[in-house]
Amino acid sequence: MFIELTDHLRCPEDHEEAFLVLLPDRLEGRSVIAGTLGCPVCDRRFELRDGVLDTGGAPPVSNDGGALTPEALGPLAGLNGPGGYLVLVGGPAGRWQDVATLVPGVGLVAVNPPLSVHGEDAVSVLRGSRLALKTASMRGVVLGAPFGGDPAWVREAARVVLPGLRVVGEGSTPGDDVIDLMASADGVWVGTPRR
Ligand SMILES: [Zn+2]
Repeated sequence: MFIELTDHLRCPEDHEEAFLVLLPDRLEGRSVIAGTLGCPVCDRRFELRDGVLDTGGAPPVSNDGGALTPEALGPLAGLNGPGGYLVLVGGPAGRWQDVATLVPGVGLVAVNPPLSVHGEDAVSVLRGSRLALKTASMRGVVLGAPFGGDPAWVREAARVVLPGLRVVGEGSTPGDDVIDLMASADGVWVGTPRR
């Protein structure tokens, strides 16, 4: 996990948003390989092992990238220029290396990716029942199936993306109380968070 990403993590518990305090055990360059992240509000501790932060309750993993191939999701995410982070949730995270070549200089966060994806220098891996990321902190979120059709995950994606930037999903079109829809076709939709 990129050490800089730890500034954007939050406790997944349902209390007011709180940062997590990192106690690193092992660093390699700018990657945290092992350590503990602690919440100052509820005192929960989360172990980071083999570069992966698992906050618990992750749904079953899909190895199917679905319709959101790197070639499709790159333009839909609409990222121009380097910097910040793009979050890939579920199957699309399996091809993060191809996405990386399409969005150079953008940090990639793989959430609940296929088991073939391991924490390493160029990608940060999170597993859990929600996005353990701060509100309005990411440049884009891509929700593979079934996450893109799950209202709870769509709300989470809309929460973490920066105002005016995009959420892309595969699944049923989300409610307009959460997402301002820009386009949808063939089971894929793209929009910006409604705040
Ligand atoms: Zn907490």
